[in-house]
Amino acid sequence: MLDKIIEAGVDTVRINFSHGSPEEHVERAERVRNRARAHGRQVGVLCDLQGPKIRIEKFAEGKIDLAEGDTFTLDAECPTDAGDQERVGLAYKQLPDDVGRGDTLLLDDGRLVLWVDQVEGARIICRVVVGGTLSDRKGINRQGGGLSAPALTEKDREDIKTAAKMEADYLAVSFPRSAEDIHEARKLFEAAGGKGGIVAKVERAEALDVVDEIIAASDVIMIARGDLGVEIGDAALPPVQKMLIRRSREMNRAVITATQMMESMIENQIPTRAEVFDVANAVLDGTDAVMLSAETATGKFPDKAIGAMHRICLEAEKQRIAIESDHRIHSKFTYIDEAIAMAAMYSANHLKVKAIAALTESGSTTLWMSRISSGIPIYAMTRHVETRRKVTLYRGVYPVSFDVTAADHVELNREAIDELRRRGAVRDGDLVIITKGDLMGIHGGTNAMKIVKVGEMI
Ligand code: PGA
Ligand code: MN
Repeated sequence: MLDKIIEAGVDTVRINFSHGSPEEHVERAERVRNRARAHGRQVGVLCDLQGPKIRIEKFAEGKIDLAEGDTFTLDAECPTDAGDQERVGLAYKQLPDDVGRGDTLLLDDGRLVLWVDQVEGARIICRVVVGGTLSDRKGINRQGGGLSAPALTEKDREDIKTAAKMEADYLAVSFPRSAEDIHEARKLFEAAGGKGGIVAKVERAEALDVVDEIIAASDVIMIARGDLGVEIGDAALPPVQKMLIRRSREMNRAVITATQMMESMIENQIPTRAEVFDVANAVLDGTDAVMLSAETATGKFPDKAIGAMHRICLEAEKQRIAIESDHRIHSKFTYIDEAIAMAAMYSANHLKVKAIAALTESGSTTLWMSRISSGIPIYAMTRHVETRRKVTLYRGVYPVSFDVTAADHVELNREAIDELRRRGAVRDGDLVIITKGDLMGIHGGTNAMKIVKVGEMI
């Protein structure tokens, strides 16, 4: 299946640390990279920490059925696997301190709804508002958010070391409340030798109150529509998705749209029309990536789900968000390479340019470039495999293995163009923008752009 999903067009895989052992994660990441190499492709690896997902414990019989009007108790002192029709244990023992009479608790992604009648010590006594089957270890959210669990659990701290060992291209922090949570994860990841980017999953109501700080602290934002939708209500999600994408792009961050994009493909071979529109609309909103969860983790047709997304993304990307982007047209730039990236895109959008060849070390030039909607492919030409894997997440950016240190500048231009020609990306007569530095091989060194006509260049 790994071969099939690589062929179907996957760019980055998520390894969800909520399931499986460290040994399995390490082995899977290796397998992904080996198979990607065999296909001549780059596939990024995103390690997703479990975070403080609040769950019930287990039932003696595996599950129960709750009916509207029943009384049911979440009991922090109930033994782990002794749940019954009356009560069930809690993995997060502090939950009774965080809730009070009148709160609404949503279980199993909101499928069941409980109203808190009273809290007595370790027991949260609830009335069932929406019933259904409740099985072992299902998640609990409070409507409106506000649960106090810190973002990084003991398990997460251990898992960060595993992610660093795996050379994760991205580390995703689940349920961050503040920029501080992101800084802390980054510190631990870097201390363990991690080099990848940090992804903030926006999935708590209170994260939305400090969203600019969280975006600034992160490299990538994930719109975690599953948990976020439970906390703020599903109807509030669409405008929030649009706001998060717009804000992330404005702040030069990449953004992932996640959860239930192709939900029906867990069972079916083709998506619903609504799912086709959801994926396309996320692309039109400006997302960098669309993510699959159960569709590929446990679904019947992972390759078909990816194939469908791939097809929808390509078609939607043809539809430019804006003909002439005015992204940051009135903002000041901080860095020289940032100014070159912006100048290149301004030129590309006003001249009929076929491709952009960014000779890059860290890939940051290509991130700045890809924040501007253009529809023009940006080739991240770099000798660093970490950079090639990192840019798999950036919209419209394609990694190319290219050694920038070898030749002089004229030779370098020629080699870059030849490489694009070999890939069929350009042909004689096409205009290409090349960005690079006078001193190649240093981070942040891009200080020049050159526009060349393929076939006529020196
Ligand atoms: P999860 O995060 O799949 O790890 O729960 C995404 C979401 O909540 O939407
Ligand atoms: Mn989640």
